[in-house]
Amino acid sequence: MDFDLDAGEQAFRHEVRRFAEKTLAPHYQSDDRAGRFRRELAADMASMGLTGLRIPEAHGGQGATAVVAGVAAEEVGRAAYLIINTALISDVLVRSASEDQQRAWLPEIAAGAVIPCICITEPGHGTDAASLQLRAVPDGEGWRLEGEKTSITLGTEADRAVVLARTGGAGARGVSAFWVDLNTARVSRSGFDDLGGRAIGRASLHFDGVPVGPAELIGAEGAGFVSVMQGFDYSRAIIGLACLGAAQVSLEEALQWARDREAFGQPIGRFQGVAFPLVECATQLRGARHVCYEALWRKDNGLDHSAEAAMAKLWAPKLATEVIHQCLLTFGHLAYSTESPLGQRLRDVIGLEIGDGTAQVSSLVIARHLLGRAYAP
Ligand SMILES: Cc1cc2nc3c(=O)[nH]c(=O)nc-3n(C[C@H](O)[C@H](O)[C@H](O)COP(=O)(O)OP(=O)(O)OC[C@H]3O[C@@H](n4cnc5c(N)ncnc54)[C@H](O)[C@@H]3O)c2cc1C
Repeated sequence: MDFDLDAGEQAFRHEVRRFAEKTLAPHYQSDDRAGRFRRELAADMASMGLTGLRIPEAHGGQGATAVVAGVAAEEVGRAAYLIINTALISDVLVRSASEDQQRAWLPEIAAGAVIPCICITEPGHGTDAASLQLRAVPDGEGWRLEGEKTSITLGTEADRAVVLARTGGAGARGVSAFWVDLNTARVSRSGFDDLGGRAIGRASLHFDGVPVGPAELIGAEGAGFVSVMQGFDYSRAIIGLACLGAAQVSLEEALQWARDREAFGQPIGRFQGVAFPLVECATQLRGARHVCYEALWRKDNGLDHSAEAAMAKLWAPKLATEVIHQCLLTFGHLAYSTESPLGQRLRDVIGLEIGDGTAQVSSLVIARHLLGRAYAP
């Protein structure tokens, strides 16, 4: 069993950490305050290859393994609210789009020229995504998209979207995926005033008869839901690592503070009441990291990884929330200020407890693996 990254992967980790510290971290708080996405961020990420990590080299990407994408998520997560969308979207397109479609669509994503989003959630259907209602109405040449998507990350900024729409009857098999140009008058958007992730943002999107044809259909008709669910088996581990990156850097800062800050004539780290909670944070972070990387390693090795990815999603964002909270308390009054990044990290990771599926939906996936579908909730 080998827990080490090879030399090239370790060098990549250092490179991304340096990039995150120098290019991303200085904007972390100001972007949050401004509450808007800077398009240069996509260009900056692209210059490091981070928007095309899992896109094949033939289509302008890096062709990286899932584990390497996890390393990038963790390192970027230390410094910014991660653009995870590209990970899930490129995974769906690489698995399900035709070669011609990939040739047309993927290079722009890898270059950071097209900002993508993914539209699944609707006002009436979140966790129960297989019941979604946005309709693809046949119009002779293709379809017209009619309906509303909500809670869409980067929804105010994105140029294109993977949109799940109902082309057939009820349930998952009636759902198809389309690659949709959002820069049209037939799409209207309204942004949210969010608690966290404010530099990325979420929005509702209204589709008012947006035309799509067979050239925009991703995979077979009726196969869209399954394709996106398989993408979650990857993106959930990536989200886990992004959250753990934010928690890890918070822990490192808290440990330094425990060395530096004195009370009652000694460093506060010498009080068990300070040190032991941080020890517990470090121990749990290590465990959760292993689960995330195991899921990605299994994906790279062609092994089933859906339970492991669900475990990563169930554990890591919640743990990150708890760890950042604990670290904030370790700093005392100083961290209870918008000057400190801890409150922002806390707000950001709470969002990722919900996005890409709540703890309950992860538990449902895991229960099916443990008990068998016939015995699970
Ligand atoms: C930061 C953020 C980013 C997001 N980005 C996107 C995006 O880019 N694209 C997109 O399509 N969506 C996105 N979402 C939406 C997200 O996927 C949904 O919020 C999520 O799937 C849950 O749906 P819901 O909020 O409608 O909750 P509901 O489905 O209404 O659930 C409400 C509560 O009931 C629980 N619950 C529901 N069903 C069950 C059950 N069977 N068993 C036990 N408990 C259950 C849920 O866990 C939850 O706690 C994002 C959300 C957030 C917060």
